[in-house]
Amino acid sequence: VRDLRDDAVVLRAYRSGEADRIVVLYTREHGKLRALAKGVRRPSTKIGGSLEPLAEVAIFLARGTGELSYVRQVELRERREIVRGDFDRLTAAMALVEAVDAIPLEGVADGEIFAMLSRALGTLDDPQFAPMLVPAAFFLRLLAHDGSAPVVEECVGCSTRGPLVAFDAGAGGAQCANCRTGRSMSPDALALLQRMLGGELGNVLRESGPRGASEVAALAHDAIESHLGRRLRVARSSPGAPAQ
Ligand SMILES: [Zn+2]
Repeated sequence: VRDLRDDAVVLRAYRSGEADRIVVLYTREHGKLRALAKGVRRPSTKIGGSLEPLAEVAIFLARGTGELSYVRQVELRERREIVRGDFDRLTAAMALVEAVDAIPLEGVADGEIFAMLSRALGTLDDPQFAPMLVPAAFFLRLLAHDGSAPVVEECVGCSTRGPLVAFDAGAGGAQCANCRTGRSMSPDALALLQRMLGGELGNVLRESGPRGASEVAALAHDAIESHLGRRLRVARSSPGAPAQ
């Protein structure tokens, strides 16, 4: 652990002792880091308000003893006010943060993941975009980034173009009736998934509740859990989706 300056998204923050806070950060150039912010719970300090989960900050960390570094300075870049004020957006944002927090390899830098997270939080903070499919879109991007984008234009088992009737996250995508091992997938969900992975994501996210959205949200959730090898605690039902 060295002294460093970096941009960071606050993934988690929890109290430590009477006045301190430990923050878990995803940084642009240093990957995931933990740091101790001393005295933030005292009313006189300005650091505390910048170190809330979902905030994007420019941060200066000083070397500590052992693995923990100390927060010396924080400059708030984005507080994500709109996200904080809306339950559906907040739930979606927490899903993004939890997925990034679940990525193994602490301390390994991946500027692309930082950029994707920052962009997705920015999308949630923009009222022209509906929050419902933002986590699904983010999970699909994360999979693609790791070279594991699901196959949705043909059967992942036998490469037939269709009809595709199921989706198996573990197998890596859509399936025909002969190869089917996964959960059933409606034509609406398949078409939506193909749009999202085929360059129409921006348009999809402007639509409120496109057909197949709750299915796609569930499929993407399965796919990222399968990829990360662990369950996410965040609610599985997508925000804004009708109850099923
Ligand atoms: Zn097949």
